[in-house]
Amino acid sequence: MRGLSGMATTGLADEVSVDTYRMALEDLTAHPTRHSFSSAYRDAARMVADRFAELGYATREEPVAFSGRETLNIVADKPGTAPEDERRLVYVVAHLDSINEAGGVNAPAPGADDNASGAAGVLEIARVLAAVVTLHDLRLVVFGGEEQGLHGSRIHVAELTDADRQRIIMVVNMDMIGRLNTAAPSVLLEGAAGSQHVIDALAQAAHDTTDLEVFVSLEPFASDHVSFIDADLPAVLTIEGQDQLNLDEHTPRDTLAGLDISVAISILRMNTAALATMLGARA
Ligand SMILES: [Zn+2]
Repeated sequence: MRGLSGMATTGLADEVSVDTYRMALEDLTAHPTRHSFSSAYRDAARMVADRFAELGYATREEPVAFSGRETLNIVADKPGTAPEDERRLVYVVAHLDSINEAGGVNAPAPGADDNASGAAGVLEIARVLAAVVTLHDLRLVVFGGEEQGLHGSRIHVAELTDADRQRIIMVVNMDMIGRLNTAAPSVLLEGAAGSQHVIDALAQAAHDTTDLEVFVSLEPFASDHVSFIDADLPAVLTIEGQDQLNLDEHTPRDTLAGLDISVAISILRMNTAALATMLGARA
């Protein structure tokens, strides 16, 4: 059994759909907030879990407790076909929660860019890869508690078995992939020394499947890839270029109207192609 050649896996990028991605964005931002401790967050999480299950993934809730309160992650798995002792594990993650920093738990927090854009991205990649046979295992996670301090991803990583920890070859995090802040569409790949092979794979995929300008940083901060990197796992954040120019982050102004869907689609094309290659996708 052999993985596809570069040509064939980059072809999967063409399966990324503006229409289904936009529908997922609309569904996620229709919740008044996705604050980790709101009932609306639970509704959104249940919706994501239902989608994963419909697509055929083995789906579970993972409780996330901190500050005396509880939220949850949704975890979805699809097994590869390689013999078990040769099977590696590839992750795609994003935080599902949003926040209105000036308001309380129930204040309006559409979180379109931060981070419906990334969570809808996980759903779109889940859709594209659902029917693709791969050598290695795929795991998709949407996290809660990110805005309070990366709690969902910290707890997920802490609870990994040693066996899973040792077979992780790639973690792709998406956080804020939908705004155009630069003259030309661009992406920042943010990782650490241990994730250089993931950065290289993503940069190659960006070149092969998009016209994105690629920036790289080895100073990871402030999103869920940090929880993996702190555990010496090869994680990379994919994020719109110059994200700090999005001044609507964590306010009621972070709405769908502020998004440039073509930026998100390019980042999803890049991620899908790189993931398919790493997973050993077969035709
Ligand atoms: Zn975020």
